[in-house]
This record gives sequence, structure tokens and C-alpha cells, in this order.
Amino acid sequence: MNSLNGPAQARVDLGAISDNISLLRERAGSAEVMAMVKAEAYGHGLVPAARAALAGGATWLGVAKLAEALRLRDEGVTGVRTLVGVGVPGEPWERAVERDVDLTAGALWQLDEFAVAAERAGRPARVHLKADTGMTRGGSGQDDWPALVEAALAAEASGRVRVAGLMSHFACADEPGHPSVARQLALFTEMVEHAEKAGLRPEVRHLANSAATLTLPEARFDLVRPGIATYGLTPIPEAGTFGLRPAMTLTADASMVKRVPAGSGVSYGHTYTTDRETNLAVVPAGYGDGIPRHGSNVLEVLAAGARRRVAGRVCMDQFVIDLGDDVLAAGDEIVLFGPGDRGEPTAQEWADALGTISYEIVTRIGSRVPRVYENGPQ
Ligand SMILES: *Cc1c(COP(=O)(O)O)cnc(C)c1O
Repeated sequence: MNSLNGPAQARVDLGAISDNISLLRERAGSAEVMAMVKAEAYGHGLVPAARAALAGGATWLGVAKLAEALRLRDEGVTGVRTLVGVGVPGEPWERAVERDVDLTAGALWQLDEFAVAAERAGRPARVHLKADTGMTRGGSGQDDWPALVEAALAAEASGRVRVAGLMSHFACADEPGHPSVARQLALFTEMVEHAEKAGLRPEVRHLANSAATLTLPEARFDLVRPGIATYGLTPIPEAGTFGLRPAMTLTADASMVKRVPAGSGVSYGHTYTTDRETNLAVVPAGYGDGIPRHGSNVLEVLAAGARRRVAGRVCMDQFVIDLGDDVLAAGDEIVLFGPGDRGEPTAQEWADALGTISYEIVTRIGSRVPRVYENGPQ
């Protein structure tokens, strides 16, 4: 990502990421921790976040796409098990095999392509078989599982594949007590047993996301896969913060402050009108930076020591806030969201105001916003 400071910036507290991983390691008991760093580490920056997670004690990294894993390797994050979760037929899987990247297989075509890739690379492909235990998205359902296991055993016998893991993914772990959670846990246990009886000897069995890592010890198995909690945001807002510390603070410097008369229509569509003579500040961040346009007249920020609501529409590159008679100068810092220590909103508050989840708030902060790293590992 861009390393120039800009009018808006996302400060990323790498020490918070390391500390969050330490907390998750404690919660994980004897299980290892795979830090999920997909989607630019939920917007925090792939490589710096990965290094901070490793410094905190993560021993695996998880990404969604092949290109993300290859970028980790290209940028020197090597010697750590790294798992790719998602792909389509025809991707250059041999590049994963060559660079010691593990692959997820929930369908026969994947095993077939990974075996071909292994031949090209001249070494076995390390594969995690994915069971669909009730998420009903990726992975093999129970009916198709025996055939996938048989195909994996055959590929192992031919020396082209090593089944390193067995895994699944929860649909509702963020709703503790949801009946699907116990069902998925039971079915995963059953599908693992089937695979092991058939002869597979995985190094790791893994199921838990952040919510399960924090609330469901039975789901830890050998490895847990926290994503959102790594970045200090709670996977279960009703249950509190779990002692996690948000790593991202989004700030922008006011680009202009002006006094306007009562009755001034503000921004596109004039959806906000000043009800008195007032000071407006222009904030140089917009939906082109990942500020949701649905936040028009809704989101709050911290400016001149108090909360201010977005006044009028969020534009592509900027939005406006109404300061009343309070004073701010061009160049003064405005905090859009952060850990909340200084009275600024949190990403969770923004998510609540918009009817979404904190994941989306941080992940969508765009590549135009430079990430400024603080408290990094030595
Ligand atoms: C994204 C992801 C996770 C992490 O989920 P969180 O809710 O962010 O903890 C875990 N496992 C898989 C397979 C994922 O895709």
C-alpha cells in the first residue's frame, strides 16, 4: 500500500495486533493460531499485519486467494505455514506448491488440479480437505465426503498430495447457543473420524473462527483461525470487547473551514441545511477512500473535541461536518474512528449506525488511504 502520508490516513497499531494474538493464544489453549490476513489483513495491510501477528505468536497465516499468499512469499514472509482458502479452476496452483503454500480442497476438481500442480512443481501439494458441516458455502457436504477422502488417499498414495489438514467453517458462531453451532461441531467430529478411519493422518484439524476461539473451547482442535479479533474488533458485539484492542485509527486533516449563513444547503442534493450561522469543516475522505455513502447524515467523527455528524452526502473524496460555533483550522486532525480512547467512534459504532459489521468498515478502507504503521515488532 501507499506509504506517503496523505490528507487521510489509517494508523495501524501493530503492537495491538501482536497483543491481540497473544490474548487469542491464551484462549486457544494448546491449539496453534492461524492469523487470518486475507483482504489486506482486513484492511490493515497484508505484510505488516502478518509480521505483527507472527511476533504475537501466530504460527500459521490464512488468506483467501492465491495472489495474497504469493505476495507474502514475495515480500519475505517465508518459513510459516500459509493456507489459501478460495480459488477457481485453472489458477497457477504450481506456484503455491513451489512456494510451500497450503491449499484448501472441498471438491474433486481441486484435488485433481493440485495433483497436476504437484507434478509440475516436482513436490507434493499440501492440502486441507474442507468439510461443509452446515455453512452451505464452500467445502464438501457429508454425502460427497467419502469420495473426496478416497480421492485424497489415492493422491497421497501416488505421492502428489499430502493431506495436511481437515477443516470446516462455522455459520453462526457469533450467536453463541445457536443450534447450528453444536450441529456443526458434531458433524465435523464425525467427518474427521471418517477421514481418519479411512487412513488420512492430518497434522491439524481446524474449525474455529474468532467467535468460536473466544467462546467455544470444544471447537479449538489443533488450530484456531481468528480474523476480526486479530485486529481488535469483537466478533460478538453484544458480548463486549473480550479485552481486544482495535488496531486501526482512521484520521483526516481538515482541508478547509468556513463560516456559512443559516439556510445553506450542504453537499450534493442539499440533504443537510444549516439551521443557523455556523462553521463547517471539509474532511478530505469519501467513498473513494471507503467511507460508506450510506453514512451521509449518519456517521459521527471526533473534531475539535466533540462528536460531529456528517452533514449532507458523503462524496467521492470528501464530506462536510458542522461545528456550530466551535473552531477548527485547516490542517487540524479529525478522528473518524479508532479504539475510542479519545472519545472517537469505534468501527463497531460505525457498523451499528450503518446496519453492517465492523469487518466491512475496516476492510473497505481503500488503497488510496496510506497505512501508517506504529509500534511494529523489532
Ligand atoms: C475469514 C475466515 C476466518 C476468520 O473469521 P473471523 O470471523 O474474522 O474470525 C476463519 N476461517 C475462514 C475459513 C475464513 O475464511
